[in-house]
Amino acid sequence: GSGSLLIPAPVGTLAIERFEPLIGTPAYHRLLERFARGRELLGDHVMWHVNSTARGGGVAEMLYSLLAYGRGAGIAQRWLAVAGTPAFFAVTKRIHNHLHGAFGDGLPLDDEAREVYSSFTRAAGEELANRISPGDVVLLHDPQTAGMIPALQGLGVPVAWRSHVGIDHATPVTRHAWEFLRGYVSQADAYIFSRRQHVWDQLDAAKTALIAPSIDAFSAKNQDLADDRVTAILAAAGLQGEPGTGDPVFVRLDGTVGRVERRARVVETRHLAPDDPVVLQVSRWDRLKDPLGVIDGFVRHVLGPTGAHLVVAGPSVDEVADDPEGGEVLQEAMACYSALPQLAREHVHLVTLPMTDLEENAAIVNALQRRAQVVVQKSIAEGFGLTVAEAMWKARPVVASRIGGIQDQIVDGRTGRLVDPGDLAAYGSAVSDLLADPPRAVEMGERARDQVRRGFLGTRSFLQYIALYERLVT
Ligand code: UDP
Repeated sequence: GSGSLLIPAPVGTLAIERFEPLIGTPAYHRLLERFARGRELLGDHVMWHVNSTARGGGVAEMLYSLLAYGRGAGIAQRWLAVAGTPAFFAVTKRIHNHLHGAFGDGLPLDDEAREVYSSFTRAAGEELANRISPGDVVLLHDPQTAGMIPALQGLGVPVAWRSHVGIDHATPVTRHAWEFLRGYVSQADAYIFSRRQHVWDQLDAAKTALIAPSIDAFSAKNQDLADDRVTAILAAAGLQGEPGTGDPVFVRLDGTVGRVERRARVVETRHLAPDDPVVLQVSRWDRLKDPLGVIDGFVRHVLGPTGAHLVVAGPSVDEVADDPEGGEVLQEAMACYSALPQLAREHVHLVTLPMTDLEENAAIVNALQRRAQVVVQKSIAEGFGLTVAEAMWKARPVVASRIGGIQDQIVDGRTGRLVDPGDLAAYGSAVSDLLADPPRAVEMGERARDQVRRGFLGTRSFLQYIALYERLVT
């Protein structure tokens, strides 16, 4: 039928030529060759992507860029977002939590959940089956789409399923969520995980592919910003005085110019000054990001030896309706701040960033990351730390927890520092040492940028997706 369970999302067009100066001419030519091979195999057919939302969240952000560059390289791309009912999204959120080993709403993945999940995804799968033609290829993303796989069998269309979530040490609740989805997922022609440790039990090794996440070097979050622009953006956002001579502008993905106008809300005793050394953590207000540990470790082990300032920044929680826990965790961070001695309060800044315009938000994150001398990511668990890759791309030395996917991102002592998240003193001395030795910090930052250039830009993802596609159709 002509249902409406799948809502078309706009696919942009971005020129891949801009990668040439970033990755060098030989690598760029290899990329062009691979794209040519992809075009040759795909012909007039279409690469379809289905996920849960076209806006907001890391997956949508990554898809936007990958699809736009793919299209810029001549690969026809279509993007659909599932229009789930509240009951459906309640079940998929539960699956998501269980996959992470968390209980979420406390309800089980029982027969009732199965019925809600499978009836919606079956109908969505049938709707997609009506839209595609033999020779197309389908990439389904995350648990919200896995149930569509059975409806796509026997149509002459390879189907791959991409999991963007995963934990290193599966718990019984995680395994139960795998069981819930495995009957669907096992029917795909390929399944893709971010790292080896995330691959589920009892899947076919021959169909398994590993593709790590990547960042877009040209997005508002990661594009180059001259120093005077960093200063101007921080001033416009109310995070530092003295706008200087720069303009608080950035380039949007659609090529137009954006301007930072909204103020971030700041909890602080004294304003950040242009010469203050800055240590930064950016993350959602989530206990797994350990904002209290960041503050505590900074005050005990960094402030005294260095006199630096700590900025802990996250989204303005009243604008993120789907995250009730965020408000609680921000309250905890504010209470922790209030309990600090006066001197420490002068050096700690809690920042909530405006979320109305996600590219404006991203530009402020970009400026903060560039302003920082050292970036920390003191997470307790992390599939892949986008914030880590973002800061490394800006040639910042990152001190991060030796956990999960972060271990694939940083070579300890060379491209950053890895520290046991339970060891505040080790955390503090890793940060203090870098602040005390700027040449070493700069060197480490340069190596960090190089590591991202080689491993974590979208160009690497393209090559892997094209190789997978080649495997599926030849
Ligand atoms: N982020 C942001 N604004 C914020 C907080 C976070 O844009 O106020 C971004 C951050 O830059 C990164 C993403 O949200 O791109 C978080 O991804 P990450 O993998 O670090 O952690 P997750 O939130 O997925 O657990």
